[in-house]
Amino acid sequence: MSEEIYPWQADIWKRLYTARDRLPHALLLRGKPGIGKLDFAIALTRALLCETPKDSGHACNQCASCNWFSQNNHPDYRLLSPEQDATSGEDDAPVPAKTSKKTQISIAQVRELGTFLELSSHRNSGRRIILVNPAEGLNQASANALLKVLEEPPQGVIFILVTHQPQRLLPTIMSRCQKIDMPVPDEQAALDWLAEKGIKEAKKRLDYAGGSPLLVLGDGESSNKLTDIWQMLARGAKLDPFALAPLCVSLGMDVAVNTMQKWIYDLVACRLAEKIRYHSHLATSLQALAKSVDLAMLLDFQRKLDEARKSANHPLNNELQLESLLLQYIQLFSRNVRA
Ligand SMILES: [Zn+2]
Repeated sequence: MSEEIYPWQADIWKRLYTARDRLPHALLLRGKPGIGKLDFAIALTRALLCETPKDSGHACNQCASCNWFSQNNHPDYRLLSPEQDATSGEDDAPVPAKTSKKTQISIAQVRELGTFLELSSHRNSGRRIILVNPAEGLNQASANALLKVLEEPPQGVIFILVTHQPQRLLPTIMSRCQKIDMPVPDEQAALDWLAEKGIKEAKKRLDYAGGSPLLVLGDGESSNKLTDIWQMLARGAKLDPFALAPLCVSLGMDVAVNTMQKWIYDLVACRLAEKIRYHSHLATSLQALAKSVDLAMLLDFQRKLDEARKSANHPLNNELQLESLLLQYIQLFSRNVRA
């Protein structure tokens, strides 16, 4: 768990902390994956519960409240999350291969809040905090149950919802929250931060992560595999799908499909003479491929990948599905059309 916020969050921290005594009863922190939203939410929660916060607004790490929080048994705090132990790590680090990650917050979890909400705070501050992460994990039933609480919030209770897919939240939930847009660091700030962490080839990896520095930090293990995957994809029609599919699957289906989505995004960009977003270091390979690709088929394939991504959490046979996608990928180049 991070005790401090990230440098690019300093302004938003100051704004919220200055308003700590007049915060609304529900905040929605929204923004891209990998920019530290959850870490910020946890730092804010600790600070709001802390009895003797520092001048900077951060938690003191010494009072009874801070101790409870570190021991994960604060009586005035609850976490609503698909995974019960999701208090550590970043909100959106890549899912390791072959784990069956729960993705939904159940209605039972929301109902369990009932007793917590009926009691009053254990401390003088009177404040109690419920962190919901990721808020898009609420399904129809649990969202409706939560909505009832948000409509008549008990005294002193603050909900902090964290999401990178606000479009998936019920509009009625959105309208009950004060929306906070979490900042993405500008490139130099992100590179400075990554340099401090001793990250090599930071520029290339930051581009690939779409500018989200925490995703770069989490991708160390898969970084070498990605290099191999890109080399194979660059072979176009000469690609061996039966060699590439298992390599992709080892990243986890969601990451595998996303890897292909980014590759195809840049291939489309090259074909349309637009800016390459994720693989600027492979511009030559992409430009060579783009010359022999059928644009209509490419766009069609892009839609198929979007569909595959949606079902990536419950696949019947990952490797088979990937082989099929890769066979379609090869077809994109077989006609040698240049319209
Ligand atoms: Zn404290």
